[in-house]
Amino acid sequence: MTSRLSAWLLLGWLAASAHHGAPGADGAASPAGSAAAGSTPLVLISIDGFRWDYLDRHPAPNLRRLAREGVAARGLVPVFPSKTFPNHYTIVTGLHPDRHGVVANTMADAVLGRFSLADRAAVEDGRWWGGEPIWVTAERQGLRAATCFWPGSEAEIGGVRPTYWLPYDGQLAGEERVRIVLGWLDLPADRRPSFLTLYWSDVDGAGHDTGTRSPETAAAIARVDRWIGLLLEGLEERGLFGRVNLLVVSDHGMADTPGEQTLVLEDFVDLAGVEVTGETPAIFLRPPPERVEPIRRALAAAHPVLTVWRRESTPRSWRYRDHPRIPPLIVAVEEGWNLREARGATGRPPPLGMHGYDPRLRSMHGILIGHGPGLAVNARVGRIENLHLYELMCHLLGIEPAENEGRLRAVRGLLAKGH
Ligand code: AMP
Ligand code: ZN
Ligand code: ZN
Repeated sequence: MTSRLSAWLLLGWLAASAHHGAPGADGAASPAGSAAAGSTPLVLISIDGFRWDYLDRHPAPNLRRLAREGVAARGLVPVFPSKTFPNHYTIVTGLHPDRHGVVANTMADAVLGRFSLADRAAVEDGRWWGGEPIWVTAERQGLRAATCFWPGSEAEIGGVRPTYWLPYDGQLAGEERVRIVLGWLDLPADRRPSFLTLYWSDVDGAGHDTGTRSPETAAAIARVDRWIGLLLEGLEERGLFGRVNLLVVSDHGMADTPGEQTLVLEDFVDLAGVEVTGETPAIFLRPPPERVEPIRRALAAAHPVLTVWRRESTPRSWRYRDHPRIPPLIVAVEEGWNLREARGATGRPPPLGMHGYDPRLRSMHGILIGHGPGLAVNARVGRIENLHLYELMCHLLGIEPAENEGRLRAVRGLLAKGH
């Protein structure tokens, strides 16, 4: 979508709600726990690639304020592969990728063909997206959902879409996204969403291009923090700050990858006739059946930082074995390294930061900050697996979760007393 179209949509919403007074007046902000389902809006905010320790190393006053006044975890543990789409979709479904089916940013399916982030037709095709994302759970139980970007939100899943959603537009200005979300909160009660999302990719982009300790990454963190500040100001103006639940998450962290630490798969094996998916640092191979073992053996002896697994023997903690979209061979390099399929010009300099490594690595952990009536005050908790956030969000919204693999018990420490 063009920014112009977004602006037009926004104007439409603002006009629709212009005659309305303070949104809190009609019950939007009654305390969670005692109120009807969805009466306390929940805004789920993702800052792509925001590593757990960025908050300690950068000023980010608005995020720090939320963490200080609300609840902050020592880290948010992603699922394998620690990439954008699998993790965003685990956060909203409570399922591992081998259950929800979004097994990589770039994947292949015997019936559907190939999937990649930039392929709009694939991204909007609900057949790629298994399980039940929270906006579907919410809409099915009579609430409204509104997404200013989230992987999966552009597809009809189980016959349901968010009431308000936008096709992903990476160019849409950060502050515009905040205005859109505030516009949704300004809607009259019968049209106002209870579950909303916001997403920015700036910190991830800077981390890839320039590494975790660069001035560019510091600037991206400062920029996103200003947008968080705009959101908080907008909520304060509406009397909603402290009366909506805010969850700030990131999908994964980032590791520095010095340019010379790159391996090329074709230096070790012939990939002609092999279906290649995934992307650095974890590449997935589907060779013809008779070539699986020879390729595995060649890669097993290829290089000390490279590991190859058959899908049935990937680390148990990854829970990355069962889905038919997971190919027979998984190849990955160690933290700090990149893995390319072939030699030759990519037209881009090698990335100086990367993620996608083993989720147990500290560098892969993201952030989790909560603030609002349903969430603990001045509290710190340990690391949380992102798998459990679906249960947490359903609890905050007062809706019945669909079947999932998360446990509310694992996130109890995040909740307000008595909630
Ligand atoms: P990754 O390769 O895992 O670092 O993915 C990050 C990229 O995902 C960012 O550059 C975003 O532009 C892109 N992205 C995030 N959300 C979406 C979406 N809903 N549709 C398409 N691309 C997206
Ligand atoms: Zn990401
Ligand atoms: Zn990234």
